Amino acid sequence: MGEDFKTAGKQGITGEVIRRIASLYGEMDRAYAEFAGEYQLDCAGCRDNCCTQRFYHYTLAEYIFLLEGLKKIPFAKRDLIIKRARVVVGSYAHEAQAGEIFKLMCPANFEGLCALYFWRPMICRLHGVPNFFTMPGGETKESGGCAVLAEKHKQPGRLLDRTPFYSALAAIEKDLRQGLGFRQKLRRTTAQMILDMALELDVEGEFSPEGGI
Ligand code: SF4
Repeated sequence: MGEDFKTAGKQGITGEVIRRIASLYGEMDRAYAEFAGEYQLDCAGCRDNCCTQRFYHYTLAEYIFLLEGLKKIPFAKRDLIIKRARVVVGSYAHEAQAGEIFKLMCPANFEGLCALYFWRPMICRLHGVPNFFTMPGGETKESGGCAVLAEKHKQPGRLLDRTPFYSALAAIEKDLRQGLGFRQKLRRTTAQMILDMALELDVEGEFSPEGGI
């Protein structure tokens, strides 16, 4: 992710971002729980595990928060996640040849549980329940939720409004980028972010043997 990011900690910017993101994620989680309850959405044992979907993340703020998680979990688990991320990102290179997007499990998922749950990115928190958001120009986009729920509820009821969450994240991102003078466009899967983090943490090559968690 480069020197811009590395100077963030020195400037005390990341601490503020972590506080703001934690608070925002808390709001998202509360709203999500309310809607998941309404729709009786139970992800346990889901046949269409959303951790295998190709989600992209676009903000440095989410990156910083996820990095915080990677720093806090036990070393052996962190190293195993990095090792798995290498395999996942390595597989992307074969997709064009195969002419399909592979369904690859996120490297942070262990037997259905997210090892970075508290620090997971926004879309991991909001995916699933029917929702909408209003774009800055006023156009509204709706989604019936994840495939399993959309199949169950052909006519979705109340929709979760993602607009305030997107706006709040954009505001945090704007302040962060201005503070750092960071202009790089980001579009990363969780696996790609984890490999960027391995460079930040300087843990290249420190891999534990498979199963050493
Ligand atoms: S970060 Fe966690 S919740 Fe998000 S896709 Fe990976 S394992 Fe799933």
